[in-house]
Amino acid sequence: MIAIIILVVLVVAIILAAVVVMLRTAQFPLPIDEVESGEVEMVDAAAVAQRLAAAVRIPTVSHEKLELVDPEPFDLLLALLKTQYPHVFSSLLVETVNTHSLLMFWKGSESELDPVLYTSHLDVVPADPATLERWTVPPFSGEIQDGFVWGRGTQDIKSQVIAILEAVNDLLNSGFTPRRGIFLAFGADEEVGGQRGAKAIAKLLQDRGVHLAALLDEGGSMLEGVIPGVELPVALLGNAEKGYLSLKLWVEANPGHSSTPPEESAIGILARAIDRLEQNRLPVHLEVLVEMYRALGPTVDFSMQMALANLWLFSGIVKRKLLANPETAASIRTTTAPTLFNSGIKDNILPARAEAVVNFRLFPGDTIADVCEVVRRIINDPRVAFEPLESAAWEAAPVTEVDETSYQTLATTVRQVFPDVVPAPYMMLGATDSRHYAGICDNLLRFSPCLGDKDDLTRVHGIDERISVESLGQMVVFFRKLIRAWDDAGL
Ligand SMILES: [Zn+2]
Repeated sequence: MIAIIILVVLVVAIILAAVVVMLRTAQFPLPIDEVESGEVEMVDAAAVAQRLAAAVRIPTVSHEKLELVDPEPFDLLLALLKTQYPHVFSSLLVETVNTHSLLMFWKGSESELDPVLYTSHLDVVPADPATLERWTVPPFSGEIQDGFVWGRGTQDIKSQVIAILEAVNDLLNSGFTPRRGIFLAFGADEEVGGQRGAKAIAKLLQDRGVHLAALLDEGGSMLEGVIPGVELPVALLGNAEKGYLSLKLWVEANPGHSSTPPEESAIGILARAIDRLEQNRLPVHLEVLVEMYRALGPTVDFSMQMALANLWLFSGIVKRKLLANPETAASIRTTTAPTLFNSGIKDNILPARAEAVVNFRLFPGDTIADVCEVVRRIINDPRVAFEPLESAAWEAAPVTEVDETSYQTLATTVRQVFPDVVPAPYMMLGATDSRHYAGICDNLLRFSPCLGDKDDLTRVHGIDERISVESLGQMVVFFRKLIRAWDDAGL
C-alpha cells in the first residue's frame, strides 16, 4: 500500500514539474517586434569600397611604445580622409588630439540636448610577418577581389570609420541638420589601449563639460552560427564589456646552491599558487547570457529555451555545457589566465625570486577589489605577494540596460536594415575604446553592422581579413538610419 502511495506521489510530482517546466519555457522568449523597413536606400557600394581600399593601403600600425610608431602613415590617412570627404571636413568642427586622433563635431540645432558620439579607430594591428605567405593578397594592398575589400583594417575597423564618414557626408548632402550635436571620434591607438586617443578625447570632452546621451563604438557584428542553439544570424549589440586585471604575483626565497635545496623553492610555491587559481575559478553568473537568449526568443532551439527557462532544474547541465567551450565560458564568469611565468638564471642556482602574471577579464559586478580578495583566499599563502600591474587594471564598464531608448532604437534600426537578423544584448569579452567614455556617458553601446560567419571571426587580427562590398554598403545605410534615429529619439 505504502509503495503505491509513494508511486502516486512521485508520478504527481513529475507531472507537476513537467507542467512548471513547460509553462516557464512558454514564457521564456521575448517577442521579436516587426518593424517597417522604410524606403530602400541607395548606396554606391563600389565607390565606398574604393575609398575603404585606399585607407587600407596606408599601414597605420600602432605600437605600445610610442617611439616605435611611424607617424607618416597616420598623417597620410588623415590627409586622405580630408580629400575623400571634403564636405564633412568643411562642415564639422575638426580637431586633432595628440596629433593623430580625430575629433569632429556636427553642431545640433537644439543646444540643450545632450550630444551623441560615434567612434571607431584609425589604427590597425600589424600583419604577422610569419604569416604573410598565407594571405591571398598582401595585407596592406587594399585589393578589391571577388566582391570583397581585402586587407588589415577592413574588419577591424577602418570600415566603420569610412561608413560613419560616408553616412555623415550623405546626410549633409541631403540637407539634414541634426537636433542634437554629433561627435565623431576616431582614435589612433585603440589597439594599444587608447590612452592617447579615446582616453584623451574623453578627458577633453569632460573638461568642456560635455555629457553624452549615447555612444556607439565598434563591437559585436552580425554572425551566423556562432551562438550555440541559434541558426539565424544574430546582431550582437554590445551593451556590456568586461573589465581587465593583470595581477603580478611573486615569491621571494633565499638564493643558494641547487645541491642543497630547501623543502619548497620560490618556483614551487608560486607554481602551486597558480595551480590553485586554475583549479578554483571565479563564480559563474548566468544572467547576462539568459538575457541574450531571451531576446533571441523563438529562434533559439527548444531544448535550449527549456533549459534556460528552468535553471531551478537545469542549471547544472547548462553550466557544464557552457563551461565546456572557452567562448561561452568567458561569457559567464571572470576568466583566469596565467600569461607570464619567470624565474631563475642558471640551472644550478636556486632563484631568489619567482614572478608570474595572471590576467583576469572581469565580469560586470566582479570588481578589482573583489577579485583580489578571492585570489588572496584561494592562494591562502602569505609567502605569495601580488599587486595589479600598472595600467593593466580597469573595472567592467557600466551595463546599458536593454530597456534604455538608446538600446531599443539601435535594435530597431538593425531590424530595419537587416530584417533577417535578430538583435540581442551581448557582453564584449575584449576591451574597446568605449570604456574611456564611461565617465561622461551612461549609454555605452558597441556594434559593427557587418555580416559574417564563424570563419570571419578568425580573420580579425588574423590572415585574409576582408569585408564584402555589399556588407560595406549596408554599413553606410545603417549609419545613415541610426544617426537620424538617435537624433529623433528621446535619449
Ligand atoms: Zn578594433
